[in-house]
Amino acid sequence: MKFGFDIDDTLINLREHAFTIYNKKLNKNVPSEVFHALQRVEIHEPFGLSNEEGSQMWKSSLEEIYYTDCPPFPNAVETLQELERKGHEIYYITARPKEHGERTKKWMKEQGFPVRDDRFFYGMQDHEKVQIIKELKLDYYFDDKAEVLDTLTHDSLKVFVRDQSYNRHLQYPRILNWTDLHEILKKELE
Ligand SMILES: [Mg+2]
Repeated sequence: MKFGFDIDDTLINLREHAFTIYNKKLNKNVPSEVFHALQRVEIHEPFGLSNEEGSQMWKSSLEEIYYTDCPPFPNAVETLQELERKGHEIYYITARPKEHGERTKKWMKEQGFPVRDDRFFYGMQDHEKVQIIKELKLDYYFDDKAEVLDTLTHDSLKVFVRDQSYNRHLQYPRILNWTDLHEILKKELE
């Protein structure tokens, strides 16, 4: 089977990692409950930043957000390693900008994710992911964003949403912890 994964906020806890960085950089102490209640993907509002300021803050912090110690979600690495061991194909499809693609690939390998160079796609806008997902003929695809998931409607693809505070209105089957995938696959593949 072919499995496709978004990276940020699907496999790794990027926004919460960035939230911690914002607290540090802005010398604030916004509690994590505020983060977990956010109804949008962007994290700047609780810091009193406008959209414009938030966008600047994100860009100027990007190096630190992407390449320091952002933690993978619990069991993400182990679950993907197991998929690979069982002979499944694993694809990564990320919107991270082109100039960050190769470094991101290297960073993902260092975290222990099973990455093959020809199965790693970057620089995709949300609405562009649909095309590559179709071309790759994926069987499963996992993402956190409505803007991506809602474009994926073709019949043979099974779509799952990685649970986040801003996507609870979506009706797709939901991954709360990556161990959930074992159960899903047990049911589907046996
Ligand atoms: Mg994402």
